Amino acid sequence: GDSVFAHLPHIPEVPIYAMMVAFSRDPSPLKLNLGIGVYRTEDGKPFQLNVVRRVERLLVNDRSTFKEYLPITGTAEFNRLSAKLILGADCPAIKENRVTTVQCLSGSGSLRVGAEFLANHYHHHTIYMSQPTYAAHLAFFSAAGLAIKTYRYYDPGTCGLDFQGMLEDLLSAPSGAIVLLQACAHNPTGVDPTLPQWEQIRQLIRAKGLFPFFDSAYQGLVSGNLDEDAQFIRLFVADGGECLIAQSYSKIMGLYGERVGALSIVCKTAEVASHVESQLKLVIRPMYSSPPIHGASIVATILKDRDMYEEWSIEVKAMTDRLISTRRQLFDALRDRGTPGDWGHIIRHVGLFTFSGLNPEQVAFMNKEYHIYMPSDGRINMAALGPKTVPRLADAIHAAVNIG
Ligand code: PLP
Repeated sequence: GDSVFAHLPHIPEVPIYAMMVAFSRDPSPLKLNLGIGVYRTEDGKPFQLNVVRRVERLLVNDRSTFKEYLPITGTAEFNRLSAKLILGADCPAIKENRVTTVQCLSGSGSLRVGAEFLANHYHHHTIYMSQPTYAAHLAFFSAAGLAIKTYRYYDPGTCGLDFQGMLEDLLSAPSGAIVLLQACAHNPTGVDPTLPQWEQIRQLIRAKGLFPFFDSAYQGLVSGNLDEDAQFIRLFVADGGECLIAQSYSKIMGLYGERVGALSIVCKTAEVASHVESQLKLVIRPMYSSPPIHGASIVATILKDRDMYEEWSIEVKAMTDRLISTRRQLFDALRDRGTPGDWGHIIRHVGLFTFSGLNPEQVAFMNKEYHIYMPSDGRINMAALGPKTVPRLADAIHAAVNIG
């Protein structure tokens, strides 16, 4: 007889995955993938950090490692070090045992577990996120049953922050609502508030009793300095208030497929933090029991060793420097071609992405004529470009802008 699943309609691929498929099928040797959000080499090849390779060799030869199950919350050492990475070594909340951290399946898993925890145990079920935001944010939080609202963020007129709009929308949000804030290197726009703007946002959020949930996927890749990029989260923790923080090691250590991340919940007291942790176990256990070992071992080995941490910091700085210099190269290439328009935002934007301002027709034109792949919102992954490909992209943008 028929399959018991015969009634199921086919769901089209999420656009970004559909684009990856189209890219892999394109026979052109000139094809260029600027869509996917990963840090690549200048030739567009997958990139691994040297320090990670070094640690992996150590781990393979280490007879004391094991493959038995981790606890539900992962390795305690990894958790402690992750909290220290984002909050700083001398964070009072850590010293006072007010922070509970659990190892999760990368940034995505940390957001998903955090969403589920809030849906189960937090009194307000609305979350505000930036317009636009990382597409999966909607999925994580609506899957947990939270209602999604947005706050203004990106101003297409300036290709910068709509700070006034953001403040107005947060001001009119109901007290208690959750606010999702990307820690730095905003995806997809490349636009971050300045530190003084963050301070104003913090005051508004605390005064209104909104509840912050931070998503940190690019720590270090804005300024090149791990502490500097965490400054504004530390402002929020220094005020004594509570918050959630999701951390991802995908981009900052190049560990995408290892799925390493952490969810921290900063609480008012150590007692609350320990109760919260016991409840997090209740969220995680029925989902996947416990997290994987290997990626967390790599991260913990790097974070706890002074020399390796230093080596990692230097690699993060080098990645950032390359992103910044690539922005400059693309800007210069468009200027040299006399391409109509003001492209200063390419330099002003931070992190991996630039919201180029190209419209869907122009993106489609560049795909058809130049085999360039990027999402229709015009987001460019700067980390996929190098000196060989910047001129081709500039040619394509120049042609696209001139057709209208
Ligand atoms: N949050 C943001 C803002 C991201 O851009 C990403 C990945 O692109 C993630 C979270 C999740 O990534 P992962 O699950 O690989 O850590």
